[in-house]
Amino acid sequence: MARTRNIIVECDVCGFEYRRTSMKLNSYGMLVCPKDYEGQYDLKNHPQNKTPILRKSNFIRDVRPENNNDRNILWEGATTNWEDTDNYWNTIWQLWQVKLLLILIKTYYK
Ligand SMILES: [Zn+2]
Repeated sequence: MARTRNIIVECDVCGFEYRRTSMKLNSYGMLVCPKDYEGQYDLKNHPQNKTPILRKSNFIRDVRPENNNDRNILWEGATTNWEDTDNYWNTIWQLWQVKLLLILIKTYYK
């Protein structure tokens, strides 16, 4: 009968033979040699593979949006009235029409 110490076992990853006492089971249940043993964490049980625990304490209460610098208006100046934005776009449209008229006049009287 063979003693447990001297049993030679094949590594499940690399295929080389090692003493059974130096082999370890990884989280997949594979018997691996010390070189192939990935330590405390491997691909399966690494903490980065687990989803984070989100609790309500992680959320900030009563959040306000940023100051909308990309829209060139402040939060206080932002409006939900369609008429206000309509006047804004009408002004832009009128300025564009004047500019187009000037371009046409310049090209006509060359
Ligand atoms: Zn190995």
